[in-house]
Amino acid sequence: MKERTLILIKPDAISKRLTGIIIDRIERLGLDMKAAKVIAATEELARKHYSNLEGTPFLENVIAFMLGNFNGIEDHRIYAFVYEGENAVEKIRAEIGSTNPENALPYTIRGSFGALKNGVMQNCVHASASPLEAEREIALWFKPEEVLK
Ligand code: UDP
Ligand code: MG
Repeated sequence: MKERTLILIKPDAISKRLTGIIIDRIERLGLDMKAAKVIAATEELARKHYSNLEGTPFLENVIAFMLGNFNGIEDHRIYAFVYEGENAVEKIRAEIGSTNPENALPYTIRGSFGALKNGVMQNCVHASASPLEAEREIALWFKPEEVLK
């Protein structure tokens, strides 16, 4: 089924200059980029995005990480994308790998480039976990008119 998904390149990957290689891997899945932007997340946006982590002990560190204030990353940018295509959600989740980079298969994005530091999984990329989550997240990061049909 044709679906949309939200992808974020996180501050760790941006500071490591991995943007090109990550986009290359995503493009090779045969999906189509429908929206793109450079953004410095506000705390409000980061908290809404990670509302599923409420009540977990690592939430505050994850928010700091997404705002670019963690482990000396000092890069406040996030690159946000909407990609569309057949089974887009599943295809991209398989390509990025498991949440914990230490468990991710070595050839996945997180397995290749992620790091676990001070309890935060600095795992380079976010991708929506389900089509429903994707639509909620796309609406958080993009105005409808910013996404091509
Ligand atoms: N995270 C973490 N420690 C954990 C779980 C999550 O640092 O034990 C961070 C990690 O950056 C992850 C994000 O919080 O990507 C969101 O967690 P989620 O369980 O939604 O994983 P994802 O969907 O990103 O694989
Ligand atoms: Mg998630």
